[in-house]
Amino acid sequence: MAKIQMKTPLVEMDGDEMTRVIWKMIKDKLLLPYIDLKTEYYDLGLVKRNETNDQITIDSANATKKYGVAVKCATITPNAQRMTEYNLKEMWKSPNGTIRAILDGTVFRAPIIVKGINSLIPTWTKPITIARHAYGDVYKNSEMKVKDGSKAELIVTDKDGNETRQLIHEFKGSDGIIQGLHNINGSIASFARSCFNFALDTKQDIWFATKDTISKQYDHTFKDIFADIFETEYKTKFAEAGIEYFYTLIDDAVARVVRSEGGYIWACKNYDGDVMSDMVATAFGSLGMMTSVLVSPSGVYEYEAAHGTVTRHYYKHLKGEETSTNSVATIFAWTGALKKRGELDAIPELTEFAKKLEAATIKTIEDGVMTGDLYVLSSLENKRKVNTEQFLDEINLRLKETV
Ligand code: NAP
Ligand code: MG
Repeated sequence: MAKIQMKTPLVEMDGDEMTRVIWKMIKDKLLLPYIDLKTEYYDLGLVKRNETNDQITIDSANATKKYGVAVKCATITPNAQRMTEYNLKEMWKSPNGTIRAILDGTVFRAPIIVKGINSLIPTWTKPITIARHAYGDVYKNSEMKVKDGSKAELIVTDKDGNETRQLIHEFKGSDGIIQGLHNINGSIASFARSCFNFALDTKQDIWFATKDTISKQYDHTFKDIFADIFETEYKTKFAEAGIEYFYTLIDDAVARVVRSEGGYIWACKNYDGDVMSDMVATAFGSLGMMTSVLVSPSGVYEYEAAHGTVTRHYYKHLKGEETSTNSVATIFAWTGALKKRGELDAIPELTEFAKKLEAATIKTIEDGVMTGDLYVLSSLENKRKVNTEQFLDEINLRLKETV
């Protein structure tokens, strides 16, 4: 069989620990036998980041801007312990943070749903994709403890030196606390465009919610920017695609989400996204089944698994012990990127292959063959726990039948 040919390279960002081991296995077993894989390779493993003073991360993000599609392996974000473990020159920043800052993107996280692994919320039969605005609000706040008898005010000094003051609170009879938040219209607009583009891309409705009834300037600005951009740039495209933009109050959104069957994108302000993504991920089961894609407002895509480098399994692997690490989210990062590349370069065989690989992966689990994390969750009667490598071989058996 002739291998599928590619035109533009994918930006390939390799990573660390167990996911680095899985990365190679996926390529060797499930991709290279079928595709004449063209990638521009960036090693974002911690060793190489340290060697290049993290320049490799910046280069990989710029390459993503150039080519439009990247696939990323999970990477270590260094902490004090990693400084000694890897003998680091510096505590390098999170690669995901660096890449996100360069691409100005929004992260969309979605669970992969299979029969036998049921959501803890039984009505949720389709994935709920969470989009979290990753700038400002409480994550870039300024806060203080305030003594009794103090008066706290907001003061804004404009570029000509004029001051506008507004009372926050006069503390009479008790000490207290204050907090200053900000956001910028440009970032909110980028968030809105990434959300609308991703909705069109995946043909799903998009929901957005804030507390605009209480926060008449701050949250209301989010609502207005979304509404303006939707009206002027997306309304017609949404109508053509048969999808909807739905805005509601955050309380109402939470109630509707719980009652829903899923199958939409939920755009969240920074804090809401932080909290709600953990709730949604937990309800859908394993971290190994959660995919993640960074979408820039200009339409650049970086696909990855939502989980980390699975350190505990890696240390077992190093000791020569058997592991049963779930590779599904990493496989879906590859298929997401290959589908996108196929679509942009008009290579239908590539897109088709990626879909077949996804189907073979899901069929493997639905046939009862799965890694340990899923084995404990699955309600299937004839289930079998396999090791990291066997799982990929089982997928390949099923893939071979379809290509
Ligand atoms: P983690 O790698 O996601 O793993 C946490 C635990 O979740 C694992 O020990 C394992 O549980 C389970 N798990 C996660 N993914 C799994 C999979 N594919 N298959 C089976 N089980 C899975 O998080 P972490 O241990 O907090 O972080 C490890 C490293 O990853 C850190 O250095 C962190 O900086 C990095 N990290 C990177 C990214 C990224 O690149 N996007 C994201 C998060 C964390 P059991 O041990 O109980 O089996
Ligand atoms: Mg959180």
